[in-house]
Amino acid sequence: MDSIREDFHRYDNFIKKYDLYIWDFDLTLVKIHTYATEVKEEDVTSLSWKKFMNQLSDPVFFRDLVIYLIGNKKKVAIASFGKYNIIKTYMDRLFNDNHIFDKHNIITPDQNIRHLRNGTDKNQYIIDLSREYNINYNKIVFFDDTLINTNNAKDLGVLSVEINKNEGFTKRVWESLIPKEIDTNDKEMNEKIIYPLNESKNKDTNKNTDKNTDKNTDKNTDKNINIEKESNVIEGFENKTLSFMINDRYLTWINIIAIIFIIVYFYFKYYLH
Ligand SMILES: [Mg+2]
Repeated sequence: MDSIREDFHRYDNFIKKYDLYIWDFDLTLVKIHTYATEVKEEDVTSLSWKKFMNQLSDPVFFRDLVIYLIGNKKKVAIASFGKYNIIKTYMDRLFNDNHIFDKHNIITPDQNIRHLRNGTDKNQYIIDLSREYNINYNKIVFFDDTLINTNNAKDLGVLSVEINKNEGFTKRVWESLIPKEIDTNDKEMNEKIIYPLNESKNKDTNKNTDKNTDKNTDKNTDKNINIEKESNVIEGFENKTLSFMINDRYLTWINIIAIIFIIVYFYFKYYLH
């Protein structure tokens, strides 16, 4: 096959920090939106190899990377609101192996007891995968082209990477993580990636310096941060998302219905007699 035989060893410093890698599918691994355009299994299998490969964002790099990750005992998964069979067909054809991605690591609404859908985020999928593989959130990398998914995933503490819809997941995207991640003291980057953790950490360290406490308390504050973070998350959703919210669209409709009601009321009252 047309492997580009990357020297993946140079990613080892990054890879040793993360144990689970989760990708979105539509507009992340593939250039098209297979769910929105209702792609069928036959559409995927009947494509010429060239056209098939052309539908994927960076197929050779992705395939080699996944094989390298698995070889290093890492876990890989796809979390999508698309259809299981379609994703499975793409992956089986790409890897020429139907064991790399299967029911265990392709998470979709039609394959999962949790019927998540577009409009929510993917935190519950990330939580389920984290539990299944017993991997902490800070050891997970998540790639997705939808902002709500990547933003909310940050609340869990995962390394959440927003994918440009026009580019998808490519070698360039992957390598953009590497130099930044090596310098873990890069304050700006830490704030960007794990801002909830960082905010509470900053507050706590400020308190510590005020009290002139010794370094042992750092360990305790780390524990406190984890507990604090856990308590903010109920089955993957922040408390605020559980509360009932009326968005602008509903408000517009309520206003329209109210105006119609008033017009009808006065019409009957004054003109119909
Ligand atoms: Mg997507």
